Amino acid sequence: MILNEEMILEIFENSGALLRGHFLLTSGRHSNVYFQCAKVLQYPGYAEKICGVIAEHFKSFQIDTVIAPAIGGIVVGQEVARQLNKKSIFTEREDKSLTLRRGFTLEKGEKVLVCEDVVTTGGSVFEVIDIVKNYGAEVVGVGYIVDRSNGKVNFGFPQFSTIKLEVISFTQDECPSCKDGIEVIKPGSRKIK
Ligand SMILES: [Zn+2]
Repeated sequence: MILNEEMILEIFENSGALLRGHFLLTSGRHSNVYFQCAKVLQYPGYAEKICGVIAEHFKSFQIDTVIAPAIGGIVVGQEVARQLNKKSIFTEREDKSLTLRRGFTLEKGEKVLVCEDVVTTGGSVFEVIDIVKNYGAEVVGVGYIVDRSNGKVNFGFPQFSTIKLEVISFTQDECPSCKDGIEVIKPGSRKIK
């Protein structure tokens, strides 16, 4: 069974990946929603189901290898590759730029699907696309779990997300939760319900 957006949202809430409250984001802005994809991927059964939506979307594509940027993308790339029965490799950061290490390599003309957990600006995915091109391999598509770009990112290849979660954030001055006097929480810094 292929999950629809409503079912995915339910899994996010059940796993604590999607929290509702009053949060201080790393950007310094405030939001009433906080999303942490690792919280859902910590459950292999959920990872299998959600990554299955990406695998299903790309199953008719000619793919040799799935590649993902560390760290967030690794679980997604591995699970999508497992379901498509393809090779899975990842890039990792070395001196600020992403690179292939551990003896990973790409052949000229190798067909590559790029996977990621969350796309906001798409920075890591654009870097991975450049790496694939530098090896003379071919990007055939980009698959990711959550699109948080508010529709702004275009990778220039067939791209697919299982769900779109718009980021709605406020400056402290305009934040409705601040006006209501609700305590702001920095996610990860303390235990939150
Ligand atoms: Zn606030």
